[in-house]
Amino acid sequence: MKTDYNIRCTYKNGAWGELEVSDSEMVTMHMAATCIHYGQESFEGLKAFRGADNKIRVFRMDENAKRMQDSSMGTMMAVLPIEKFEEAIVKAVKLNERFVPPYESGAALYIRPFLFGTGAQVGVKPANEYMFILFVTPVGPYFKGGFQTTPFVIMREFDRSAPLGMGKYKVGGNYAASLVAGEKAHQMGYSNVFYLDAIEKKYIDECGAANFFGIKNNTYVTPKSSSILPSITNKSLMVLAEDMGMKVERRQIPVEELATFDEAGACGTAAVISPIERIDDYDEKISYVFTKDGKPGPISEKLYKKLRGIQYGDEPDTHGWITIVE
Ligand SMILES: *Cc1c(COP(=O)(O)O)cnc(C)c1O
Repeated sequence: MKTDYNIRCTYKNGAWGELEVSDSEMVTMHMAATCIHYGQESFEGLKAFRGADNKIRVFRMDENAKRMQDSSMGTMMAVLPIEKFEEAIVKAVKLNERFVPPYESGAALYIRPFLFGTGAQVGVKPANEYMFILFVTPVGPYFKGGFQTTPFVIMREFDRSAPLGMGKYKVGGNYAASLVAGEKAHQMGYSNVFYLDAIEKKYIDECGAANFFGIKNNTYVTPKSSSILPSITNKSLMVLAEDMGMKVERRQIPVEELATFDEAGACGTAAVISPIERIDDYDEKISYVFTKDGKPGPISEKLYKKLRGIQYGDEPDTHGWITIVE
């Protein structure tokens, strides 16, 4: 949905300019801009929530600011100061306040910051000019029919990213690289592809564009890998799991270990937790099933409710994750 305003900032002559407010949805740039030819682009995604008290809360925006800085360093783009990133969010949310959905709807305002090379450059080297834009748009509740499980599929013919490559940065190229695999998974009736490490195809990486976690023996287990995106949702769930008295393990997870989890989920900003019904190994013809009745497990549900509760202001913000926009 089109909203009223977006926020922009340009980098040239070695410095970032002032934040600007725009009511245009268009970008005009040189046809030789590096973002178009050589993929100098990164993006972020986070949400603002309207509480029962009518206050608007933004979740962990400092983490998104830092991650975008990492993506800039990984693609040799200009690094946007954290304060500018945060200021742009607050400004965009305030200016588009009428688009923040009501508390009761379970919907939210999605915030999309992105940064790209605009300098004209036919030789392969970093641009000398960049643009940062931040737009917002309302998004409906992720689970329309209630908190539900979905299936994933392992297909060894595809890699999302390489171990020493770009997987740890939030860049558009990783998404382009995953489209063919994602389409195939969708056509076969799956939510998304369940990726294994690209070298040995032995350890768990990510589920599409979401991190993985498994639950067993009162322990939250999530992969340690250099080719996955460090999810802020996952980072938050690890803290909440510890708060609930669970153990947290971040380590390599061999694919066969899937058989030992009582619950499994994909996590990210879009759904918080998308509980996994089963993972079919397409090559080995094995299924790992995490639910008997198609319903999410009790720990996934508890973690989901807790995090959503903090985001909407129904639960106390004991870790200082919330910024109230006023
Ligand atoms: C954005 C993203 C995630 C989820 O990160 P959050 O910060 O939790 O939204 C996970 N994996 C990939 C590949 C992503 O791009």
